[in-house]
Amino acid sequence: GSPGQELRIVLLGLDNAGKTTLLKCLASEEVSTITPTQGFNIKSVHSHGFKLNIWDIGGQRAVRPYWRKYLGSTDLLVSQGPCPRVLSWQELAELTEEESLMGVPLLVFANKQDLVTAAPAAEIAEGLSLHTYRDREWQIQACSALSGEGVQDGMNWISKQIT
Ligand code: GDP
Repeated sequence: GSPGQELRIVLLGLDNAGKTTLLKCLASEEVSTITPTQGFNIKSVHSHGFKLNIWDIGGQRAVRPYWRKYLGSTDLLVSQGPCPRVLSWQELAELTEEESLMGVPLLVFANKQDLVTAAPAAEIAEGLSLHTYRDREWQIQACSALSGEGVQDGMNWISKQIT
């Protein structure tokens, strides 16, 4: 986005990845849930000049036809860390291949780092084959949406992508 414009962020992740917790961590206002069609939810919040839309991609095959409609002018893509449930690199690659997401920066939050069972961020980056992404900026960020640790670092990276 250009200065003064609303930054549109899409947060993707499997159910239970911690997207809602992350969103609450970022925004002071109430989270609204839009349910445009049965089978998937979009949670949305406006905060500090950005609009964050959150998707559960557990049922990604069913929601695929709606991507173009809702992601048309997305500035950033944030994939909630696949921790402890793992999003496969194939799934992420397939999702980010979407035409409307070409060149859009990708931030992966490796969430729930406060858990002893959490895989280290580097391991998650490797598991998602992030090093193979050459047509977009990407970043892996360890965080805990629960404690807030690392969340601001991720947002700082996001803000650098738009300036
Ligand atoms: P969503 O389905 O992706 O929106 O996930 P939620 O935000 O509802 O979180 C699912 C569960 O994981 C809840 O019980 C959260 O309290 C928990 N959770 C979310 N983030 C963290 C985190 O960073 N650390 C820990 N330990 N639990 C978390």
